[in-house]
Amino acid sequence: MSLFKVNEKCNGCLSCVQNCPASALRYQDRGNQRKILHNMGLCARCGNCWRICPQKAIEFGELLKGQWEEVVNMELVRCIVCGSPLYTAKLKNTISEKVEYKMESLCPEHRKTNLFNIWHRLSPKRESKRVESYDYREA
Ligand code: SF4
Ligand code: SF4
Repeated sequence: MSLFKVNEKCNGCLSCVQNCPASALRYQDRGNQRKILHNMGLCARCGNCWRICPQKAIEFGELLKGQWEEVVNMELVRCIVCGSPLYTAKLKNTISEKVEYKMESLCPEHRKTNLFNIWHRLSPKRESKRVESYDYREA
C-alpha cells in the first residue's frame, strides 16, 4: 500500500507534476483517462506537491510522520537459563544447517557456566579430590 495518496478532491490541474523537483510525479493520458503516477523510489519527501496543491488533495501526512513500521516479525530464541534475547529461531536453523552443529540456546555468560559444569562432569579426578578434601576437613 502506497503512503503517498491523492484523494477525490484532485481535479487534475497538474501543479504537483510541474513542481516536483525530483520528477517523482508524472501523468499519463490514455483514451479519455488521465492518470497521475507517483514513484516512491524517486520521491525526495520534500512535501512540495502537498504544499502546492490548490485542492488539498495530496495526503502526505503518513510520509511526513517518519514513523517506524514493522516489516518483519520472527520467533526469538532466549537463553534457557536467564531468558536474555539471543537470536532468531530462523538464524539458529540457518547456522545449525551450515555447520552441522546443534546450537545450545545459552547467552555468553551461561555458555561459560555450562562448559564449566561439563568439564567438572567429565573430570572424575577433580571431583574425587574435592570430596577427599571435604572429608578431611570434616574429620
Ligand atoms: S496539484 Fe493537487 S489537484 Fe492538481 S493534480 Fe496535483 S493533486 Fe491533483
Ligand atoms: S514530495 Fe517532493 S519529491 Fe515527492 S512527489 Fe512531492 S514534490 Fe515530488
